[in-house]
Amino acid sequence: MNKNILIIPGDGIGQEVTTWGKKVLEAIAQKYNHTFHFDTALMGHVAIEATGNPLPDETLAKAKTTDAILFGAIGHIKYDNDPSAKVRPEQGLLKIRKELGLYANLRPIKLFDELLGASSIKPEILQGADILFFRELTGDVYFGEKKRSEDRLTASDLMVYSAYEIERIAHKAYKAAQTRSKKLCSVDKANVLESSRLWRETVQKIALQYPDVATEHMFIDNAAMQLIKDPKKFDVVLTANLFGDILTDEASQIAGSMGMLASASIGDSVGFYEPIHGSAHDIAGKGIANPLASILSVALMLDISFGLQNEAKNIISAVEKTLKQGYRTADIADKTTTENMRCSTQKMGEIVIQNL
Ligand code: NAD
Repeated sequence: MNKNILIIPGDGIGQEVTTWGKKVLEAIAQKYNHTFHFDTALMGHVAIEATGNPLPDETLAKAKTTDAILFGAIGHIKYDNDPSAKVRPEQGLLKIRKELGLYANLRPIKLFDELLGASSIKPEILQGADILFFRELTGDVYFGEKKRSEDRLTASDLMVYSAYEIERIAHKAYKAAQTRSKKLCSVDKANVLESSRLWRETVQKIALQYPDVATEHMFIDNAAMQLIKDPKKFDVVLTANLFGDILTDEASQIAGSMGMLASASIGDSVGFYEPIHGSAHDIAGKGIANPLASILSVALMLDISFGLQNEAKNIISAVEKTLKQGYRTADIADKTTTENMRCSTQKMGEIVIQNL
């Protein structure tokens, strides 16, 4: 197979982890006789520094013509501490999602058995949990009108959805549910929010087209509680942008760490693959970030964008083997991890590649 892959490392640990995502792609290309052509582009704080724009035109042009994108993360502490900054790294990410029509963000949450001890949740509650989130990605308060009163003391963000935005992601989630355990939970706040009432009505209509899938509707506050109390009760979870953002960070505890969770953003054109974590200022530049979320994002790319299921499985097995052998970056280490099994980003990446 011959494919073009655009790497957008972004900021902070994004740079460190995508290095290993790319090396895994190179190792897969060699092993299975594929040709991957790589290109790189700027986004986020690094792009602002270089060009004044968090999503330079050149990056967008490259993104629109490639076969798949591997992204790291954006964000810089300077902007977190200055909420009034007009040009911000996250504008780049929001714009590229909108421009590429990436309306469905898939986040598989699966605990590797070897990491049962790394989570703060009891092992017996976690074991067997396997959830696939569908988070809507191009609507909601992220893209609705933002306002500040003249005296700057009142602010609002418009939470807005149109039926077609809900329908298109609902179809994707139902189709996925049909291939899994035929259960779908749609999460909203329909008791309070009008946009959630539209969400629920629309999902109820779509559900009629998938009679083989059992649908449950749950309020976001309840879902946040149930996810920790009994994660095994969920299979496919369909939710809006803001609720999905929060729930999937919460769900990262089911997988042991933010450093373990991959995601795929898909729409009608190119696929965009990224770990769910951010640029992690607290550990950036120290060489200790967990690269497994980026490596698992590559597995999603090979599976979803290129249809290379065996290659994807090979990556997941290599990660599993690495964890079974006991290798741990700091975020997934526990008191049983011996000194020689504690890994830097580089060592973790190298062992996974050895295990491929
Ligand atoms: P974060 O995800 O960067 O970090 C949260 C915590 O998880 C930190 O303690 C961090 O050290 C840890 N962590 C995250 N990824 C890890 C990894 N691979 N290995 C080990 N530990 C890991 O979230 P934050 O601290 O809220 O945000 C930091 C910056 O990232 C902010 O500027 C924010 O805007 C940005 N951000 C970007 C994205 C994105 O690019 N998709 C997502 C979330 C946050």
